[in-house]
Amino acid sequence: MSRKYFIAGNWKMNKTPEEGAKLASEIASIVSKDASVDVVICPTFTALDRVSQAIEGSAVKLGAQNLYPKTSGAYTGEISPEMLREVFAKFVILGHSERREYFGESDAFVNEKVKFSLENLINPILCIGETLEQREADETLEVVKTQLLGGLVGVEASQMGSVVVAYEPVWAIGTGKTATPKMAQEVHGSIRALLNEKYGDAVGEKVRILYGGSMKPANAEELLSQKDIDGGLIGGAALDSNSFCDLVAAAKRAP
Ligand code: PEP
Repeated sequence: MSRKYFIAGNWKMNKTPEEGAKLASEIASIVSKDASVDVVICPTFTALDRVSQAIEGSAVKLGAQNLYPKTSGAYTGEISPEMLREVFAKFVILGHSERREYFGESDAFVNEKVKFSLENLINPILCIGETLEQREADETLEVVKTQLLGGLVGVEASQMGSVVVAYEPVWAIGTGKTATPKMAQEVHGSIRALLNEKYGDAVGEKVRILYGGSMKPANAEELLSQKDIDGGLIGGAALDSNSFCDLVAAAKRAP
């Protein structure tokens, strides 16, 4: 089963609107109209509009880093899918380990957001992954299973074409430590098996599963050549147009 590679940049709390527009223009001019790999950039909320304008006409797509599962109302500090659609955001990162850790997001809340984003035509990138303690206690596959199935409660097979999963071992995020390709493939393979079991092979085999955690041009090729690694969710290396576009190029070369 061939799946289109998917490279997404998570800018986290970096880049002003001005800086974001500059970085987005550089990426858009390199990627141009080449849509052989799905390329998504996810700036901060304040930079979304400027970045959206900067990538217009290119194959680069826009994503957000979060949303709130309500249409509008008294939810101070939050943002709705409709507001994201208005600036042409197509994707949203949900359940990132930083949101789980610093903002106490549970699987149930992440699940609410996943369902609401799907109902409101924003494609969720559902992040899951174990901490170092959990890996050392041999709990990785159990943790990943709980987060995956918890995030997908009530999501129908017919909606899974819009869902992207990102496996991000927490101990590898922003640390420079990367899961070896073999370690990553083992988890990706188990995620695929869970998706196949829940939704049937025809659906599960089509879902893109990204790896995230200190992915950079130097280690991308080996990771992306693993059977069930269909792209990357990139933090640090997404903040520079050359390293990000080198990752896009690695995905283009991947088998
Ligand atoms: C991330 O935060 O999603 C991430 C993978 O970060 P980094 O690439 O910096 O490890």
